[in-house]
Amino acid sequence: MQHHDVIVLGLGSMGGAAANELAARGLDVLGLESFTPGHDQGSAHGGTRIVRQSYFESPEYVPLLRRAYEGWSRLEAESGRDLLTLCGGIYLGDPASPTYARSRAAAEEHGLDHEVLDAAEIRRRFPTMDPADDAMGLYESAAGYVRPEETVIANTEVAARNGATLRFGERVQRWSATPGGGVEVVTPEGTYGADRLVVTPGAWAPQMLPELELPLSVERMVFYWFTPDTDAVPVERWSQEQHPVYIEETHGNGQIYGFPMTDGPAGGFKLGYFHLGTPTDPDAVDRVVHSDETAEMRRRALELFPHLTGPVVQAKTCLYTVAPDEHFVIGTHPLHDQVAIACGFSGHGFKFVPVVGEILADLTTDGATDLPIGLFDPRRPVLRP
Ligand SMILES: Cc1cc2nc3c(=O)[nH]c(=O)nc-3n(C[C@H](O)[C@H](O)[C@H](O)COP(=O)(O)OP(=O)(O)OC[C@H]3O[C@@H](n4cnc5c(N)ncnc54)[C@H](O)[C@@H]3O)c2cc1C
Repeated sequence: MQHHDVIVLGLGSMGGAAANELAARGLDVLGLESFTPGHDQGSAHGGTRIVRQSYFESPEYVPLLRRAYEGWSRLEAESGRDLLTLCGGIYLGDPASPTYARSRAAAEEHGLDHEVLDAAEIRRRFPTMDPADDAMGLYESAAGYVRPEETVIANTEVAARNGATLRFGERVQRWSATPGGGVEVVTPEGTYGADRLVVTPGAWAPQMLPELELPLSVERMVFYWFTPDTDAVPVERWSQEQHPVYIEETHGNGQIYGFPMTDGPAGGFKLGYFHLGTPTDPDAVDRVVHSDETAEMRRRALELFPHLTGPVVQAKTCLYTVAPDEHFVIGTHPLHDQVAIACGFSGHGFKFVPVVGEILADLTTDGATDLPIGLFDPRRPVLRP
């Protein structure tokens, strides 16, 4: 049986980063992944993911975001790939909406650069948008987007360059802790041994960590690419040079988020609902986007973008793995010290990819990390079955 220092189970967003970081630290890494690098069956596809720092989910994430930004630059440099674009971001809604109010609170608490815009100013600066008259926006220039598929490919390429053995198209059936304090991992192609294990299976976390009975909800989400009316508002106003990423909710109408046009008019203008997914089995997802769903998204999109009236270019499903409190699940496995887990990213994990890689490498090599991960404790009461 082959024996390694560490096995990484799942080479998607977080597992790719962990494999990269562990190989860079000189460990003998084996990575196992069901699909191909940058595949579209999990949570890491669709071309773009928002990155931002004025974090309405909780100001506790801000130090990790700062660290993640350093990681994004490092990953771009070491991979030679263009991953991060800072086109600015706006979080807008009625003054009491968490999207606006809590983003502003996080920016103020951490002294992040920001501007507060009222509805008239938002319309003037971003003529694609027609927010409600009482809307307020928190604008942050240090926001933008990263490229998910390119990121996974970058991390796995750099990991392989640093000596990691990465096996794609090989799905882990089960793993177990061995009496000697190591682990054993079984796939249809073999059994592998290691001193340590990193479990990063995304939407397959309930299957790969059944002993923890984590109350995670795997949800089918959809993103849509619509064509804007560029006679009404010129094309450059919809494009990344002039248009920010955004999140909006006004008087409880359902939070939406989206991006500027990043690939020219033919690529469309991408957006989606932030939550409101439907529970699903990751192995039996309805990948068809139905016309009633598209019509509902269009109706909601028009509330903010009255000129987003052209045809749908594309619509795709993607999976969230949602914890009851919507905070991540990262730490040492509660039953096995030699195993580190990272899952339950609740629809907002991608921007943290580089720092989660560091955290998992710290947990693997030292059993602990100096980075602040208390919020993500796998033992917290809300995760108990
Ligand atoms: C519609 C949508 C929009 C999003 N927007 C944003 C955003 O704007 N900003 C943001 O920060 N985040 C966003 N996210 C969330 C972010 O993409 C996820 O939090 C993140 O990708 C989760 O990473 P992961 O590593 O847990 O899962 P994944 O990237 O899916 O990786 C898990 C990997 O494990 C593999 N695997 C699973 N089981 C096995 C097995 N048994 N054997 C081998 N391999 C296995 C899978 O095939 C997969 O490759 C969005 C997600 C979706 C779906």
